Amino acid sequence: MDMLIGGKHISSDDLAEVKNPYNGEVIDTVPIAHRQTADLAIMEANKAKESLIEMSAFKVSNKLLNVVKKLEDKREEFAKLLTLEVGKPINESLVEVDRSIETLRLSAEEAKRIYGESVPLDAGLNGKGFFAFTQKLPVGVVAAITPFNYPLNLTIHKIAPAIACKNTVIVKPPTEAPLTVIKFCELLNEEFPPGVVNVVTGYGSEVGDYLVCSDEVNKISFTGSVTTGMMISQKAGMKKVTLELGGNDPVIILKDADIDKAVKGIINGAFLNAGQVCMGVKRVIVEEDIADEFARKLVNETEKLIMGNPLDTKTTLGTLISEKAAIQVEETVKNAVEKGAKILTGGVRDGAFYSATVVDYVTRDMDLVVRETFGPIAPIIRVKNLDEAIDVANDTEYGLQAGVFTSDYSSSMRCAQEIEAGTVFVNKQSTFRTDNMPFGGFKNSGVGKEGIKYAFDEMTKTKLIGLNLR
Ligand code: NAD
Repeated sequence: MDMLIGGKHISSDDLAEVKNPYNGEVIDTVPIAHRQTADLAIMEANKAKESLIEMSAFKVSNKLLNVVKKLEDKREEFAKLLTLEVGKPINESLVEVDRSIETLRLSAEEAKRIYGESVPLDAGLNGKGFFAFTQKLPVGVVAAITPFNYPLNLTIHKIAPAIACKNTVIVKPPTEAPLTVIKFCELLNEEFPPGVVNVVTGYGSEVGDYLVCSDEVNKISFTGSVTTGMMISQKAGMKKVTLELGGNDPVIILKDADIDKAVKGIINGAFLNAGQVCMGVKRVIVEEDIADEFARKLVNETEKLIMGNPLDTKTTLGTLISEKAAIQVEETVKNAVEKGAKILTGGVRDGAFYSATVVDYVTRDMDLVVRETFGPIAPIIRVKNLDEAIDVANDTEYGLQAGVFTSDYSSSMRCAQEIEAGTVFVNKQSTFRTDNMPFGGFKNSGVGKEGIKYAFDEMTKTKLIGLNLR
């Protein structure tokens, strides 16, 4: 597939292969862009700004709704391409496309609700006699840099609010999985003037970095790893920056919990998308009185997962993004076992597959739970009581989401108040998101929020207009 810049398809002699992680087959190629191409995209995005500002909110909203319709019509086609490039089970890809449609629709609706407010300047010293109000204005050109694990929906979480707020966009999709994003941007390009949406493919370290450093880009909206996010925050200068980074989400299971419900939650939370989820359950913190029963039931349910061809509707566990990623997970688990952890089920790698794995007797100092492990692992950390559970939950540089299973009201409220995370769910695993909720972590998990209404704050700048009436 070509890049899309200024409404035109742009190729290059330098091409990168996009491979199906399930069988290694080349699905397609994309250009490896260099700085000159990124520069062209920056120029086209700046040129297109006026065309969008001229458009009424009503028209922008309707155009986004037209794209909703187009994506709905191509739901299966998009889901199949997602599965081919990422290796996730087809049923999960269908959910991602459905959520993408929802994200787009929410943005189209919110495009009609960009309000300012009147500001009582007379509440401040010498402010009497003014009529003042704010206006929310587009920031200009938004660079959207996105990761491989939910390439479509996470990119739409940036593009759709950006355009709804009348910004133009340059997308730098993930190197491993750029195809659905390009295809989606083509749908947008059919509706909006040339240059409103541009896609530049290639390596983050070159084109991504160039976009981050450019003075002609006004905002960076990034989702990806903490390492890249930190680099971006150091280089972005005076631009607005939103960083949605990694997670090491804890889920606490207390002795008064509904164990079956908790098991179901952990199965979904630890193994969805083969564990490659920022808000995936990465640490299962269990009160020791119920740990044996919980572990037995978790193993039982884990062994029901079906690993296989991701295009087969019966498959519930697909591949990781690459064999390299699977090897990394394999080594991290081995390392934990060497330090005393015990594999209860799984622990087997086959190419890019890694089996759904339950590891017990994990301690908080093991690499498996200190760093973000992006694989289908449920590491059980046994604790004595609620105090220790909260202490373990907070013993991390991350703070994306968290969950607690308990039937006790005050324990749930203590977790809600004391766990340092952007979201705490009670009787639900951390791995849950609706596309309208404020989403974004504390600590090293990021800066700023997404979730349509909240993303609008990040995609606009506020101007105050004050009329001196005396
Ligand atoms: P990554 O940081 O390796 O890459 C993300 C994007 O950044 C890619 O498009 C990449 O090409 C680009 N990039 C790489 N180096 C760059 C640079 N120097 N300058 C600019 N751009 C650069 O992340 P990944 O491996 O694709 O994704 C997995 C990570 O993303 C995990 O840590 C996961 O938790 C996180 N994630 C976070 C959220 C969230 O909303 N908080 C959602 C999904 C994934």
